[in-house]
Amino acid sequence: MFRELGELQIENTAIGAPDDIVCNCTQTTCARLQALMGQGCTTLEQLADRTHVTMVCGGCKPLIEELLGSASLAVAELVKKESLGLGITRFQFRPVNQPVTASLPGQHILLQGRIHNHWVTRAYTLTSPAAQTDAYEITVKREETGEFSRWLCDRADEESLFRISEPQGEFVLEERFPAVVFFAGGIGVTPAIAMMRTLAQRGDNRTFHLDWSAPYPESFVFQPELEQLTAQHPQLRITLRPTRRVGKLQPADLQQHYRPSPGTIAMLCGPESFMAAIQEALLQAGWTAAAIRQERFGSHLNQDGTVQKNAP
Ligand SMILES: Cc1cc2nc3c(=O)[nH]c(=O)nc-3n(C[C@H](O)[C@H](O)[C@H](O)COP(=O)(O)OP(=O)(O)OC[C@H]3O[C@@H](n4cnc5c(N)ncnc54)[C@H](O)[C@@H]3O)c2cc1C
Repeated sequence: MFRELGELQIENTAIGAPDDIVCNCTQTTCARLQALMGQGCTTLEQLADRTHVTMVCGGCKPLIEELLGSASLAVAELVKKESLGLGITRFQFRPVNQPVTASLPGQHILLQGRIHNHWVTRAYTLTSPAAQTDAYEITVKREETGEFSRWLCDRADEESLFRISEPQGEFVLEERFPAVVFFAGGIGVTPAIAMMRTLAQRGDNRTFHLDWSAPYPESFVFQPELEQLTAQHPQLRITLRPTRRVGKLQPADLQQHYRPSPGTIAMLCGPESFMAAIQEALLQAGWTAAAIRQERFGSHLNQDGTVQKNAP
């Protein structure tokens, strides 16, 4: 089986595996370049000086630029893809030559996919519990006009080329808070899924209340699992709001059900308008800004692929 990558054809693997020949003219392998990068050769010129890559036919230049730009990403394979309905798909990825690293619940990975000969990068929160080390699980909503999510949900398969980062991000379950109220809008539930799975797996006794808003009853694709978790672990609670039927969460609901208390933190993840409304209502209900955490799925990525810091 051959996979085509730019000018180069690589047998049985994607660029980034140690034995991949990156420069045919000089027979330089990926491992050799990565070793040099590890020793501090971080520019094309420095690598060319040491190995003469790019100096014969020059065809390897784009690949080496990509390798330099992705030193922190590992080649990965798609091991499972499963539709959960309503445009939501669950994926499992595994790095090819590296272990799956344990995460903190709520962290995300950067996922790169090769679409029409270009690497496209997006961030996705892990839904796997923190201790899971056989594969990274993510759950993705297909955006009707989105470039990456549409490709990933509709077309990507085990033959597609992927690279992934290690888990990262600061929107995580903080050990010092004994109680969490998590307000999720739509696919913004993914960090809460990782958190609840982790708490259940650890037998952690802190209270965690997920209040999840989504348009229709069928939108709650994790409902059966969440009901099972809450039945087995009474400190975990869920409130599901099919907003087209019961309306949106109102400031009065917050006043009544979610009063601030010492040691309780509020976590928010969902569409911008949802988070702005909930934050305002929480502040009106007496919560301090210091007790509110937010994750923005609409955040842009920096040039190196990391997620730009959210405004407070
Ligand atoms: C830390 C973090 C964690 C995340 N976790 C998750 C997760 O767990 N699950 C998940 O599904 N997503 C998650 N995301 C969002 C994800 O990274 C992508 O932004 C999302 O999948 C959309 O990418 P896309 O390439 O499909 O859309 P893009 O092509 O980047 O488009 C972005 C948005 O603009 C709209 N758009 C694009 N073109 C047009 C146009 N011409 N006119 C009007 N609108 C347009 C799209 O519909 C889409 O809503 C996360 C983001 C961050 C920053």
